[in-house]
Amino acid sequence: MHIKGKEYPFACNYTVTDRRELDRAVWNKALEAGASFHRAKYISHDHLKKTVRLNHDGKDHEINYNNFILSSGWKYSPLRDPHTFAVAEIVQGESPFPDCLYIKIPDKTLIGYYWIFPMTGGRTNVGGGTISGIPFSFSMIEDFKKEMGIKGKSLGRGGGAIPLRPVPVVQKNGSYLFGDSAGMVFGLNGEGLGYISMMSDVWADAIADKKDLNKIWIDSKIFRKFDKASKIMRFINFFEGNSGIRIYPSLNILGALLKQRMR
Ligand SMILES: Cc1cc2nc3c(=O)[nH]c(=O)nc-3n(C[C@H](O)[C@H](O)[C@H](O)COP(=O)(O)OP(=O)(O)OC[C@H]3O[C@@H](n4cnc5c(N)ncnc54)[C@H](O)[C@@H]3O)c2cc1C
Repeated sequence: MHIKGKEYPFACNYTVTDRRELDRAVWNKALEAGASFHRAKYISHDHLKKTVRLNHDGKDHEINYNNFILSSGWKYSPLRDPHTFAVAEIVQGESPFPDCLYIKIPDKTLIGYYWIFPMTGGRTNVGGGTISGIPFSFSMIEDFKKEMGIKGKSLGRGGGAIPLRPVPVVQKNGSYLFGDSAGMVFGLNGEGLGYISMMSDVWADAIADKKDLNKIWIDSKIFRKFDKASKIMRFINFFEGNSGIRIYPSLNILGALLKQRMR
């Protein structure tokens, strides 16, 4: 972690993966377990009638369901819940930090961070996200790449809004929210994937055993962690926005030092 001109290294048990490879691995595992996939566009559902409207083959269809899981990501609405933005670019060429995740927390205007992650196949993932709700643009990534001397060819770009608050009601009758649509993201850094895979067993078991998922979710450690992180992040946002004093970098230094001690 690079903050205020200094580096704070600490051990972390992360895996860096290409999201397309991760999705394919999950897809193949589901196929092996007997799942079948159909390409459709979700339109709406009615949890009282237990029907979902989907568009496939150019037509709208109303389908009855027993259980319906909506994991269509975060639906961004500027006036709704707190959210953050992140964008990433895959660049040809090895990372300048091939053996670690490099995170830079700017100490002036931006509430958020930039990252450089090494990837397989001599590629690098460069990106950034804000926590303030201000859109993060590719021109900011361009400036960051220049600063870090990253000149490789761009192989792909993507990004979007990320929820910053867990949704308390994730089950209505037989319909369930999961992943970003349930706000399953740790608000202090905008990460969701590790938590989403951890919670998938909980969702599957609760649905199979017909348990009250709303209660299980709200009582879970992960929900409490997300809820606290969301409140802290909103406080930081409010404080920095009103006072102009940056506390996010110092909080990260504190976190990095604590992690170093725990090593
Ligand atoms: C740039 C960026 C970098 C990130 N980096 C990290 C990271 O390093 N680590 C981490 O843990 N998290 C990271 N996150 C967050 C993480 O990507 C999300 O938490 C995670 O992808 C959420 O998974 P999901 O399956 O719930 O939603 P998504 O990955 O958003 O998938 C939802 C899918 O539903 C589809 N869909 C949407 N609407 C419809 C519809 N009407 N009909 C049919 N399909 C639909 C979408 O096309 C999409 O394929 C990052 C996010 C961004 C934007």
